[in-house]
Amino acid sequence: MSLHGTYDPQNVFAQIIRGEAPCYKLYEDDDVLAFLDIFPQSYGHTLVIPKRSAARNILDIDPDALAKVMAVVQRLARVLVEELEPAGVQVAQFNGSPAGQTVFHIHMHIVPRFEGEALGIHASKKADPAELEALQARLLKRL
Ligand code: 5GP
Repeated sequence: MSLHGTYDPQNVFAQIIRGEAPCYKLYEDDDVLAFLDIFPQSYGHTLVIPKRSAARNILDIDPDALAKVMAVVQRLARVLVEELEPAGVQVAQFNGSPAGQTVFHIHMHIVPRFEGEALGIHASKKADPAELEALQARLLKRL
């Protein structure tokens, strides 16, 4: 999929927004949804998405919707840092397949980074559901 194209309402994040696919939800309001990545690049890898924007990438999204997403990114980055105490935290966003995008509903990655771990763009291993559930419960206590 390229940088340009039509929004596909069947993409997995649109399904999660509609409640048709499950997620380990951390935060939701009228405009923004945040949940754990099921192929995490690190412990605590979180995704933040706009709920009302049929936007594939940063070129498409309305600036006000983007601002709402970023406010939640900051809030969750703080929570992840407080709870998991990583050595760093990465905020990333990809546009188009050549840039690493695989799901074509705009999303921000928040990736806690721990000393000694490789900096990957994509993880190949699906997380253990029990571990994601435990992590979700741990983070929800701070939200
Ligand atoms: P992208 O490469 O498009 O920037 O990132 C897409 C992200 O979505 C990847 O980190 C991938 O692991 C994650 N992902 C793909 N499918 C699902 C899913 O069904 N649920 C969740 N929670 N994450 C997903």
